[in-house]
Amino acid sequence: MAASLIDGAALSRQVLGEMRTQAAALSAAGVRPGLAAILIGADPASEIYVRNKTRACEEAGVHSELHRFASDCSESEVIDLIARLNADINIHGILVQLPLPRQLNTQRILQTVRPEKDVDGFSWVNLGALVAGGPALAPCTPLGIMTMLEREGIEIEGRDAVVIGRSVIVGKPIALMLIARGATVTVCNSKTRDLGLYTSRADIVVVAAGKPGVVNGAMLKRGAVVIDVGINRLPNGKLAGDVDFDSAAAVASRITPVPGGVGRMTVAMLISNTVNAARQIAAAAGAR
Ligand code: NAD
Repeated sequence: MAASLIDGAALSRQVLGEMRTQAAALSAAGVRPGLAAILIGADPASEIYVRNKTRACEEAGVHSELHRFASDCSESEVIDLIARLNADINIHGILVQLPLPRQLNTQRILQTVRPEKDVDGFSWVNLGALVAGGPALAPCTPLGIMTMLEREGIEIEGRDAVVIGRSVIVGKPIALMLIARGATVTVCNSKTRDLGLYTSRADIVVVAAGKPGVVNGAMLKRGAVVIDVGINRLPNGKLAGDVDFDSAAAVASRITPVPGGVGRMTVAMLISNTVNAARQIAAAAGAR
């Protein structure tokens, strides 16, 4: 293996340690950051994600509460709860664990969250601010990737970056963030005819397709930085990313593992957004 690992587990511990200090300072000033998670149904993966987020809150000294609904709940029940949490002075972040059961309109629910408490960064206000380059609560996974690149001292300005995937959660926002930092960005999707044509000239490759092995070493430029966002459960029960790790690591200079890479940073950024939201909400209340 030529590439060295970008250790998402270690970086996320570092971020959570910083958040613990910041949350303690806010708590001492009378504002303990608080996160409310809403979990609908009993999807096993969602259960694990919410448990990890609750644990990270504990690690950072952030108050957390979990609100559960049965999978056949109505949209108005969920929206009523969000309205209450929007007004709750002890809650600074609200997250709705996705995916939602079919009968619920995901966008109608997500857009009910007050933008100042939208710690997942999915409200139109926060996504719009990302496009315009304004201050925003940014989506956690792309924010985690940018934090990794920055803390590892990986140059972005002037580099060629390829993003594989164009979702609102990962592909589009990470492309915007890389553009804002001066990269030349190409965004590929499932209709892209020759993925290798783009990946083979990229200095930074971010892969968020949800397809194991969609990128391998033969498709990469020597020395590329490879960020694997994918989380796939293989038939043998193991977790795998979207990148064929062994062949990619033989060519790349830096690479993220799965697990222990981007996923860990996503959780750390949720806590960071919650602490920042608490600070901003408290400052706005003080200024009134
Ligand atoms: P999505 O299904 O919404 O989007 C996938 C995107 O990949 C689409 O834009 C599609 O066009 C593109 N795509 C699919 N196959 C492709 C191919 N062969 N070539 C090029 N593009 C292709 O998925 P998402 O929500 O963006 O998530 C992507 C992956 O990242 C999933 O595995 C998901 O589990 C994972 N994920 C991980 C984290 C984390 O914290 N690590 C967070 C969010 C998502």
